[in-house]
Amino acid sequence: MIVGVHPLAGFDKLLHYRVPEALRASIGVGSLVRVPVVNALRLGIVGEIGAPKDFPLDRLKSIAQVVHPFPALPPDLLGLARWMAGYYACGLDSIIETMLPAAVRNGAGLKQEKLLAVAQKLTPEELAVLEKRAPQQGKLYRFLEQQFRPQKKSLVLTRLGLTAAVASALVKRGVIREETQRIERIAYDDQVEHGELVASQPHALNPEQSAAVAALDAEIAADKFGVTLLHGITGSGKTEVYLRAIDTALKAGGGVVFLVPEVALTPQTVARLRSRLEAIAPGHRCVVWHSHLSEGERLDGWLALATGEAKVVVGARSAVFAPVHNLRLIVVDEEHEPAYKQDETPRYHGRDVAVMRAKLNHAVCLLGSATPSLESYANAQAGKYRLLELRERVDARKLPYIDIVDLRIEAMKQRSLPALSRKLVDAMHARLERREQTILFINRRGYSSAMLCTKCGHTEECTHCSIAMTYHRADETLRCHLCGDQKPAPLRCPKCGAPEIRWRGLGTQRVEEAVRRMVPRARIERMDTDTMSKKNRFREVLAQFRAGKIDILIGTQMIGKGLDFPNVTLVGLIDADISMHVPDFRANERTFQLLVLVAGRAGRGDRAGEVVVQTFTPQAEAIQFSRQADYAGFAAAELKMRKDFHYPPYRHLIHHLFRGPNPEKLKFFSEQWAKLVEKELGSRVELRGPSASPIEKIKDEYRWQVWYFTNAVTKVVPELVRLRAAFSWPDDITQVLDVDPMSLV
Ligand SMILES: [Zn+2]
Ligand SMILES: [Zn+2]
Repeated sequence: MIVGVHPLAGFDKLLHYRVPEALRASIGVGSLVRVPVVNALRLGIVGEIGAPKDFPLDRLKSIAQVVHPFPALPPDLLGLARWMAGYYACGLDSIIETMLPAAVRNGAGLKQEKLLAVAQKLTPEELAVLEKRAPQQGKLYRFLEQQFRPQKKSLVLTRLGLTAAVASALVKRGVIREETQRIERIAYDDQVEHGELVASQPHALNPEQSAAVAALDAEIAADKFGVTLLHGITGSGKTEVYLRAIDTALKAGGGVVFLVPEVALTPQTVARLRSRLEAIAPGHRCVVWHSHLSEGERLDGWLALATGEAKVVVGARSAVFAPVHNLRLIVVDEEHEPAYKQDETPRYHGRDVAVMRAKLNHAVCLLGSATPSLESYANAQAGKYRLLELRERVDARKLPYIDIVDLRIEAMKQRSLPALSRKLVDAMHARLERREQTILFINRRGYSSAMLCTKCGHTEECTHCSIAMTYHRADETLRCHLCGDQKPAPLRCPKCGAPEIRWRGLGTQRVEEAVRRMVPRARIERMDTDTMSKKNRFREVLAQFRAGKIDILIGTQMIGKGLDFPNVTLVGLIDADISMHVPDFRANERTFQLLVLVAGRAGRGDRAGEVVVQTFTPQAEAIQFSRQADYAGFAAAELKMRKDFHYPPYRHLIHHLFRGPNPEKLKFFSEQWAKLVEKELGSRVELRGPSASPIEKIKDEYRWQVWYFTNAVTKVVPELVRLRAAFSWPDDITQVLDVDPMSLV
């Protein structure tokens, strides 16, 4: 028997081996094995059975070990890995390593513990004899006899002050028995704080939800590939629809992957999902999967799925690779979240990989969002995805009132650039009077180098690319980092002639100072990555806020995800412009998403909510459409821009980054490379650049880049890889290809 093996750790090719007689029964496609490569043993995955024709068999080495007695990488995941290697231009080895937790690759075993239980009941006479002859054994027997279930050996012995020899003697007599049990290290179970548990009872469905559930049930029953986009406004009960679909898939004997963005994986969400799933499908264990698990926890979860013992996994991005058996449903919640994209090799997008995995399994992929990505929405409009909509809130509550504050007018009135408008300050005072709470959001993804006129709200955009131009202090220029176009930075606003040209937004700290000054009586807490370096601090603050011990909470989007604070009736967005003028074609989309998210935080209790949005550009589409809660209107306007400028979803983007210590050399080779690509692939790709990256230098390395716009990723990527391998790159230039990047900055 000959097998082809993909070795891991830097060996991106298939090598062939003999399988010794003894290992034949436990080997198959997807098996994790150890094989000799050069002079060392390496891990590898069996990719095929058999050898190519005319293959020289005489010098073939043998497989050394089969690590697990079942395939570590089931056929669907192996197929997915191959697709990813081609699509994302990276080695199969790095993808397989991403798919298999380190503990699995190490072949680590399970943590086990020993239990003691009574094996044979003694009569009172027998016990009396035992206690007389061996008092310690008698003591142990008496203790175990009183227990309902087997007891941990180590605990019992410590508590009774006995040695292991005492237990062994009783086991030998056949009076008690010792058994081994796998300990499951389930994350979060001991962490759910009192009062954080949310009602886990199933809710009655409204007509829209019922229709969505019926549609999904039919789709799951059909047993073929399909993608459904569930567009439901905040509070419309998407989770309930997910849970019903999961139930249907489980009842059909299928497995389920449930993806949520990492930030949404709070103990609260996990506990709620767990208890609901366990209520809905008794006997089903739900495995949790995210980046903060210990190796042991991850291994246990992986094994439970790989052996078919558990059928549901809930987790962040990488849970899309969980070895779920008979996969019938993948749910991707908040499918628009950029967090689904991995920003290191392999640079995959969890949602796109989910769709592909569903396809390979003839399964259903359910994408859900209050603000779907324009990629998914366009697919739904084109009929590739089925669109289901939930337009009503389950509690029939009205959406909060959104108040737009024009900072241009505010700046004129206050004769300076205020952090807080009068309206927002008054609203905070009113909340304080009524003992209600306020959240102030500051967009975390601030980009300081866009130009914004505080008089008229004008920003300079590249005429070719329709993205904000970036200000470069060193040579006083404005540059487009997409196409490389540049011009002198204006001293006055090119539109209205005003000299007030602002270069940066507000930090959380400055906002905190302003709030302390303007609302001195309030209890204020700031929550951002600086103040929240400790994981527990984050939860402490949230618990205090929930308990009403904080009046005003200031922070970034991290407060917004999946949390429900019924007493919050005011939400302020300090600076909507920050996200709008990020030099990225998705800036408007992100702003719209942010506004909807922010609005969803106000008035979730039984009181009406109010949202105050401060901006210099109140006329912007993202702001106007979000005020009307008009996703379709926004999408139509935004898709037109995307079409006009050849952006996704109408083209795919590929980012090619070059890094090196010498800027001239870097520029030279980037240009040579771009010329080559233009010549060879000019008919299939539209090049932009080369240009300096928006962040020109990181850790003493300069950065240049080229963008490829294309309709045919699967054809273009292999060509780029081939050209790249043939091009004579200097040793000090490194490069990264990123297919479908989620950010241009
Ligand atoms: Zn102006
Ligand atoms: Zn441009």
